[in-house]
Amino acid sequence: MNTEVTRQVATLRETVARLHRELTRYDLVAWTAGNVSARVPGQELMVIKPSGVDYDDLTAEAMVVCDLSGAVVDGDGAPSSDTAAHAYVYRAMPEVGGVVHTHSGYATAWAARGEAIPCWLTAQADEFGGEIPIGPFALIGGDDIGKGIVSTLSGHRSPAVLMRNHGVFTIGRDARAAVKAAVMCEDVARTAHLARALGQPVPIAPADIDSLYDRYQNVYGQRPPAH
Ligand SMILES: [Zn+2]
Repeated sequence: MNTEVTRQVATLRETVARLHRELTRYDLVAWTAGNVSARVPGQELMVIKPSGVDYDDLTAEAMVVCDLSGAVVDGDGAPSSDTAAHAYVYRAMPEVGGVVHTHSGYATAWAARGEAIPCWLTAQADEFGGEIPIGPFALIGGDDIGKGIVSTLSGHRSPAVLMRNHGVFTIGRDARAAVKAAVMCEDVARTAHLARALGQPVPIAPADIDSLYDRYQNVYGQRPPAH
């Protein structure tokens, strides 16, 4: 690695370590489950959580650098057992800079039923542009999980997929965006669950979903200053 790449990797080690604390802060993970990764921009590399390490011990130094076949390039520990899925997503979706996986409770309850989350909330229209889709059942180990994520999210507005009987995978332009999608996915899944427990939620008209999504993605929030 040249000096510039070494510097990028050092920064991403800090970022990815820090973002793991968001998974515990928002109660999205139990024990050592869940993981965040970030692509090293312009490189065939990613920074990912080590396997089976307590969240309290996830320092920048503990992160593992892998190539996009999942082979370790730098780091002492074994990478996350979900490394192959993250690597597959980075290989197949060049626009993706961050991937997150959780078994967050409410979202995974929808995954257990194999049921997409219909768009009943404006916050869901904003963030996901419609339903949060279900991906196929896939066993861990090979490329099946990665293939399921990519086939479900390609051409879909949602940055989150509920992999059937498993849990949530989210993507983003960077790791922070993927973490935000994981937090919002669980928030939406919880409210949708509560709404349906109380009766039949009211759908949002597709044209209104389009309008909400467009405004949130293109207008909402702090804009960078124009130069
Ligand atoms: Zn999992």
